[in-house]
Amino acid sequence: MAFMLQCPSCEQEGLDPRHSLSQCTVCKDNFSLEAHCPQCDGVLERVQACGAVDFFCNSCNNLVSKRSARFVITKVA
Ligand SMILES: [Zn+2]
Ligand SMILES: [Zn+2]
Repeated sequence: MAFMLQCPSCEQEGLDPRHSLSQCTVCKDNFSLEAHCPQCDGVLERVQACGAVDFFCNSCNNLVSKRSARFVITKVA
């Protein structure tokens, strides 16, 4: 099963970290997802590799998996 993030509105795992704008599959609220580096806290770039999306930190020059990235989740009106 795909890795999903917990939605701040309904607290279910309904947000897909592959998209910078994601709609909760449970409560249908919209959120912007920004991935941050766990090492330097810089904003990560999305990189597509073999159909999967991972994140890349330009400061650390490091690939960061979506499981270790820190997500800032902001509700979009
Ligand atoms: Zn939700
Ligand atoms: Zn970094």
